[in-house]
Amino acid sequence: MDIKENLRVINENISKACESVDRDPEEVTVIAVTKYVSTDRAKAAIDAGVMNLGENRMDGLLQKQQVLRDEATWHFIGSLQSRKVKEVIEDIDMLHSLDRKSLAKEVNKRRNQPLSCFVQVNISKEETKHGLMPDEVMDFIKMLEVYENIRVVGLMTMAPHTEEEEKLRAVFRKLRALRDDIQNQKLPHAPCEYLSMGMSNDYEIAIEEGATHIRIGTSLVGNETNGGDKR
Ligand SMILES: *Cc1c(COP(=O)(O)O)cnc(C)c1O
Repeated sequence: MDIKENLRVINENISKACESVDRDPEEVTVIAVTKYVSTDRAKAAIDAGVMNLGENRMDGLLQKQQVLRDEATWHFIGSLQSRKVKEVIEDIDMLHSLDRKSLAKEVNKRRNQPLSCFVQVNISKEETKHGLMPDEVMDFIKMLEVYENIRVVGLMTMAPHTEEEEKLRAVFRKLRALRDDIQNQKLPHAPCEYLSMGMSNDYEIAIEEGATHIRIGTSLVGNETNGGDKR
């Protein structure tokens, strides 16, 4: 599976999705999620022109950074245990999974300069998913004002595993409405302009609903953990 070709297809799909809703493709950042692949494969993604890498585990992030630290912008997209924060927090550029006060407190304490964070929201209210309930988000974000090293740049969600387009669309739409509410508060510590939503199976819909950061693993770099280059 050739990453260059995958990226070409994805960029084409991004352009089409943007065109259909009159958006500028420049507003959409592609994050290559490398959690299922080797450091070599992550390097191949960078060589193909990807500038943003996403990892959901600390070990995977640190391993790849031994080789690629200065070659990409690093996104942490998985849940982060508070006691592990000190081991990675200076090594990431954006955190997509801020979902509790204890984590915010620890990040604030361990970071030496402000970190761009997405607050994770459990829009679909699935019990297995991380994230705040939608009605908790506003108070949570207001509370973050006291943490000088936390900057809320946007909201993040994981959509449910479904092929039903309308269900997916409804989830993305709700996240966007919530983002708009927060943005309208004009909180200095929470400009909240971004939406991190959309993965391999649903990124075009997410873009139509306003995604600014799409997190693509399988259909960009593949999955080496389930028998090769499967999509
Ligand atoms: C794995 C993962 C992705 C990418 O998933 P694909 O379906 O392989 O594109 C995106 N976001 C998060 C939070 C993930 O854990």
